Parts: sequence; structure tokens; C-alpha cells
Amino acid sequence: MSFNIAIDGPAGAGKSTIAKRAAKELSFIYVDTGAMYRSIALGLLRRQTDISDETALLHALEEIEVSIGYEDGEQQVYLNGENVSGLIRTEEVSAMASRSSAIPQVRHKLTDLQRNLAAKENVLMDGRDIGTMILPDAQLKIYLTASVQTRARRRFLEQTEKGMSCSLEEIEKDIEERDYRDMHRETAPLCQAEDAVLVDSSEMTIQDVVDRITALARERM
Ligand code: C5P
Repeated sequence: MSFNIAIDGPAGAGKSTIAKRAAKELSFIYVDTGAMYRSIALGLLRRQTDISDETALLHALEEIEVSIGYEDGEQQVYLNGENVSGLIRTEEVSAMASRSSAIPQVRHKLTDLQRNLAAKENVLMDGRDIGTMILPDAQLKIYLTASVQTRARRRFLEQTEKGMSCSLEEIEKDIEERDYRDMHRETAPLCQAEDAVLVDSSEMTIQDVVDRITALARERM
């Protein structure tokens, strides 16, 4: 039987960096479910779908196919066969992913893909509803969070390092809005599973968090 690790938490808590590194140390496959939601969002944006129009949305979803693969150990995500991994990290896609992921039909489209991956392999999967909905029997569940201020500061530094101009206040506001949408949607809202271990990374380095997760996993394997 495969060993599954679920990592959930709000945007900007360092989930993907930490999950990627922990998966590598444990020789697990890393599955980034956010990338799948982002690919659907890109598909909807390209079609200029009005997501409040249910018929239009269903029609678009019928034409959108998402799959994943691995190149040099890195997850790649494909939208109708096209590798879109480099196109899904824009603010426009983030905003559409946050809105469209609240729609049950969008979530439904990805459920089997995520569960099938976890059934076959030892995976470390990160997202918002992995421990609560997708893999309720995961052997280890982590709820990874950090204060809004810490998360905003991290994203601010990341963007200024890339030479992008941005305002700390706007980033904070954006993070608060995304948290609110993820935590208050009706379908699969972000929340800590009862049996998840809470890790607050505000005062921890990335490696501290990776060490904590890999130690917990080794105890249970
Ligand atoms: O994690 P990431 O920021 O890449 O996710 C993009 C968006 O997809 C999030 O804003 C969140 O609303 C949504 N998401 C989700 N469930 C998941 C993973 C991501 O609703 N399992």
C-alpha cells in the first residue's frame, strides 16, 4: 500500500517549496494540486469563459483536459496536452484559480486524478483540501500556516528580488482575500483536518519545517 502525506494550508505559507524538498528527501512523488487548479483557470481565461454562466462553464470544462507528468523529477502540468507549467504563475491566473476553484464542477474534475495518483505511489500532495477531502486516510497530515504579515513579507521579498514593483499593503490585502475565499467557500473549504499536525512556519526556516515533516513521516512509515 502506498504511503500518503497531505499538506494543506493557506497561500504563501511556503507549502510548495517545503513540500518539494521534503518529498525529495523522502523519495516521494510531489503532487502540486494548486498547479492543476491553475491550469483549469488558464483554460477558462483563454476561452474567456464567464464562470458565473453555468452552461458556458460546463461547456468549457468538457473541453479542458488536465494531466501531469514529471521531467527530471519536477512536476509538469499539461492543459490539453500542452505543457503550461511556465504560464500558470501570473497574478491573472492566481486570481482566476482562486475564484474558479470554489465551483464544485471544477473541483470534481480533479478529484479522481488526485486520488488515482495517491493510490499508486508514495506521494506528498499539497493543496487546500487534501487531508480533509481528497485523502482522508493519508498516513500523515500537516496543516502548514504562517501569519498574514509573515506570508506577505515573504511574497514582497520574492517579487522585489525579481525586480517587480509591488506594495506590501496590497499583497497583505490580496492574501487576506484569498484566505477568506478558500476558507469560506461551500465546497471543500480550507480547514485543518482533525488529525492533522499544525505547523506554524512564521518563526521557522524552510529547512526547520522540512526536518519536522520528514521526521514525522519516518516515525510513521
Ligand atoms: O496553491 P496555489 O496557490 O498554487 O493554488 C492556486 C489556487 O487553487 C488557490 O488560490 C486555491 O484557491 C486553489 N486550490 C484549491 N484546492 C487545492 C489547491 C489549490 O482550491 N487543493
